[in-house]
Amino acid sequence: MKRLKKQFSLFSAIVDAFVEPPETIRYPFEPLNLPDVIRGALVLDTEKCSGCGLCVRNCPADALELDNKSRDEFRLIHYPARCAYCGQCEDSCRSGAIYHTNQLVKPITDPETCVVILHDKRG
Ligand code: SF4
Ligand code: SF4
Repeated sequence: MKRLKKQFSLFSAIVDAFVEPPETIRYPFEPLNLPDVIRGALVLDTEKCSGCGLCVRNCPADALELDNKSRDEFRLIHYPARCAYCGQCEDSCRSGAIYHTNQLVKPITDPETCVVILHDKRG
């Protein structure tokens, strides 16, 4: 009788597995709807960035670099391999130019993705 009960519960678990919706997300075949609070990929609104360098100065991981010749000519560079996705640059930026999205950060598979030119402003 005990054995029959066990077999029945196994059978009902198998039926449930076919009837119930899946518990897992089929990423990357379906989009991930991550919560807004996730600190994911960094983006820059180039219209708002003045090249002040506050984000670079406050980055604890040395993951940002400002290559500037003048106020009108500068490059803001991000090194994702060093980035801790801590949010300090977002907090430091007074104009709200740099911020995290809730998008997953892509794995770094080749040297080119180790360096991201966030802004390249030329005179
Ligand atoms: S998220 Fe943190 S570690 Fe990454 S660039 Fe911004 S301040 Fe630096
Ligand atoms: S992202 Fe913000 S803090 Fe960084 S250089 Fe641009 S304006 Fe300054």
